[in-house]
Amino acid sequence: MTVAPNVYDAEPIPEAARAEIDRLLQSGDLFRYTAPENAPVALLEREFAELMGAKYALAVSSCSAALFLSLKALGLPRGAKVLIPAFTFAAVPSAVVHADCEAVLCEVGMNYRVDMDDFAAKLPGVDAVLISHMRGHTSDMDAIMALADAAGIPVVEDAAHSLGTVWKGRKIGTIGKIGCFSFQSYKLVNAGEGGILITDDAELVARAVIMSGAYEHAWKKNMGLEAHYRTWQNRLPLYNMRMQNLSAAVIRPQLPEVARRVRDGRAGHDRVAEALNMSTWLEVPAPLEGELRAPDSIQFNLMGMSDAEVDEFTATAAAQGVKVQVFGMSEDNARAFWNWQFLGDLPELPQTRAMLMRACDVRLPARLTDAELDYISAALVGAAQQAKGTIAAE
Ligand SMILES: *Cc1c(COP(=O)(O)O)cnc(C)c1O
Repeated sequence: MTVAPNVYDAEPIPEAARAEIDRLLQSGDLFRYTAPENAPVALLEREFAELMGAKYALAVSSCSAALFLSLKALGLPRGAKVLIPAFTFAAVPSAVVHADCEAVLCEVGMNYRVDMDDFAAKLPGVDAVLISHMRGHTSDMDAIMALADAAGIPVVEDAAHSLGTVWKGRKIGTIGKIGCFSFQSYKLVNAGEGGILITDDAELVARAVIMSGAYEHAWKKNMGLEAHYRTWQNRLPLYNMRMQNLSAAVIRPQLPEVARRVRDGRAGHDRVAEALNMSTWLEVPAPLEGELRAPDSIQFNLMGMSDAEVDEFTATAAAQGVKVQVFGMSEDNARAFWNWQFLGDLPELPQTRAMLMRACDVRLPARLTDAELDYISAALVGAAQQAKGTIAAE
């Protein structure tokens, strides 16, 4: 019997990282602001900004830190309302709380994207929008930007899981005022932990640089914006969310791998999606028109199944070594909005809840072979048939 592929192991870190890490260990130069210039973190910022076609980048300790600093850089007052999709990771509403703001949750459809009617209805009451491209699913950015721009409301993109995704020819993370990315191990570029924000706005990045912990005149070693830094010097708190050099040494040699990982991840995802869509009981929502995805996992909905059949489906798949998480059915899932009790009174969001109760999540790292991908597809399709106790209708 074929063994189920391991979807949790990471790709090895490129060999080039080893020499640089050794050099850093020899010199002990781990802090980004020690070397007079060209510290690995500063080089990463330049390279990432260039990769994305953005003017400025600021590397920090996590994407959560980037989201928090983005909201702070916008100068939102205490209690400001920030609209976020109700389908995202708990880190997103948490960043809003951390920034002393109030999260307003927006409904999400069965296709995992922001429901534009609910977005339009809730927009007038908010001070900022934080669009989380959850699992790399892109919402209608044209409609979101048109509504937000018309209302003069800034948009931050949580692109933690969207590195390499393109929306109508534009890179995700460059459409809003600020884009935030993650280098946590389950994202496309793996540094264990880490994050980065990009923007074309000198004022915003200068504020974020200072708040990230560029104390005294350390900002001289960030991208040169001296007048802006001098404006904000000593007027903003220092939250110390800097990235350290070892992380940058692990990330930099992975940047040239991004294009390949995106290409392979998309091909693998689409191969499995095609197989799952053959089943009456499984549905992979199509991307929006103009969206080129960069997936490292697949999401699909269970169709026409009772709760008991959903349980049977996940148990059968698990017995074949394929772990499926139904977002709303696993205990304490951090992506189910009703578990964000730290927000206080939670709204009822029937549409998002219905989606979460049937939406499945399976990791599909870019390194999987066709045979491994087909094993996963067959296990999922077979488990759905078993759960329904029937052969899929022709
Ligand atoms: C992983 C993730 C985050 C948090 O990133 P960290 O770097 O772990 O803070 C935020 N949003 C989304 C959509 C994510 O997938």
